Amino acid sequence: MPETTSYYRDSVAVTLTPTQPLTGARRFDVCIVGGGVSGCSAALHLAEQGYRVALLESYEIGFGASGRSGGQILPGLGTELDVIEHALGLQAAREVWEMSREAVRLTAELVERHAIPCDLKWGYIHAAVKPRHVKAYRHWQDAMAQRYGYQGLEWLEPDAFRQRVVSDGYLGGLADAEGGHLHPLNYTLGLAQAAQRRGVEIFEHSQVTDIERARPARITTAQGQIEAEFVFVAGNAYLGGLIPELQTKIMPVANYIIATEPLSHEQVSQLLPQDDAVSDANFVLDYYRLSGDRRLLYGGQVSYTGREPRGLRRRMELKMAQLFPVLDRVNIAYRWGGKVAITRNRAPHFGRIGNNIYYVQGYSGHGMALAGLAGKLVAESIMGQAERFDMFARMRHLDFPGGTRFRTPLLVLATSFYRLRDRL
Ligand SMILES: Cc1cc2nc3c(=O)[nH]c(=O)nc-3n(C[C@H](O)[C@H](O)[C@H](O)COP(=O)(O)OP(=O)(O)OC[C@H]3O[C@@H](n4cnc5c(N)ncnc54)[C@H](O)[C@@H]3O)c2cc1C
Repeated sequence: MPETTSYYRDSVAVTLTPTQPLTGARRFDVCIVGGGVSGCSAALHLAEQGYRVALLESYEIGFGASGRSGGQILPGLGTELDVIEHALGLQAAREVWEMSREAVRLTAELVERHAIPCDLKWGYIHAAVKPRHVKAYRHWQDAMAQRYGYQGLEWLEPDAFRQRVVSDGYLGGLADAEGGHLHPLNYTLGLAQAAQRRGVEIFEHSQVTDIERARPARITTAQGQIEAEFVFVAGNAYLGGLIPELQTKIMPVANYIIATEPLSHEQVSQLLPQDDAVSDANFVLDYYRLSGDRRLLYGGQVSYTGREPRGLRRRMELKMAQLFPVLDRVNIAYRWGGKVAITRNRAPHFGRIGNNIYYVQGYSGHGMALAGLAGKLVAESIMGQAERFDMFARMRHLDFPGGTRFRTPLLVLATSFYRLRDRL
């Protein structure tokens, strides 16, 4: 996938203590594979309890989705709660929903406790593009109030909506006071820095090439080896085939974002005067928000093949300017992509191999807050409190049909109906 430098890499505000690749043979209590939010959060929570932790990252901290994402944080999962209800029952679905709210609060607590400079802001809007979205949102608002006791969603009629999203492209929307946005790379680096300060050893440029399933487990990189009682595999969409039975449960999908040059206060008042994060209700959804230095970060195009779609930037620019005429002719300063791991039912995939190798993957585009909690739940479980981790791990996940070779064409086929419907 062609990558260009992200805006986030050019606005890093957190510096880690310099790291080295792993060399030689070492011993730790826990070895974590992957330096995104999942891995960094687990490392921090374990180190706070006195565990000796190594974190191995193929490239640099935040190289994966966590350092490239839209930075939108909100309660809920990448799937409807109906899916959880159907699989685990209403009571479990309520507990999962409450944990997703806790994930957002945990994000805010971590930012505050570790003074992470990541421009955390509150305010989130789900925007209706079509009449059927209005109906679906109203239904969802009622269901969340009645079945889940959640009163945080407020319906905005078009006039009220326009006070917050200055565009004629919508029919209203739902505001969620518990959602917000942040600079995802600075957040991830902030967690890694806090972990380093509590003694976690981070080894960047240390791709794990083998995990021997034993206790202690043996984790191998090009130049080194670690023995550890516990392993947490947090490589998500970037893990590849390291653990074959995890690879078949997810589909890596590329997602893209463009960032404008910094906008004037006048332009911002014609866009998002209250600095909300926004996403729409389409199957391939568009999402956007302002950065700390007042750029519009606009995301949404996907590629199932890993190749960047032709004319991607132009298409995104046009969509953006259609929604916000004030952005016509504004310079696009950055464009980048990253990989999201989706599962078949869009619920996250938590579990263990044997009793000492943990994994979490497949947040299905909704992991920015949840990954922080997932890391904490892995830490709790390693410390002997497995109930909350197991609540997620009870969800069964099916393989994508077609194996790693044919799953992409099959998924493209399966999603083309919904993509077509987005255009109607
Ligand atoms: C463009 C984009 C926009 C998104 N927008 C949002 C959003 O607005 N809101 C939201 O909630 N979610 C969003 N997401 C999803 C969210 O970013 C992810 O769910 C979340 O960051 C996952 O975190 P993670 O730590 O599990 O994985 P990652 O952040 O992907 O981290 C995995 C890390 O593991 C490393 N790794 C993999 N294999 C190995 C190995 N063998 N050895 C060592 N290291 C390895 C990788 O290099 C990578 O750094 C978005 C994702 C993308 C790509």
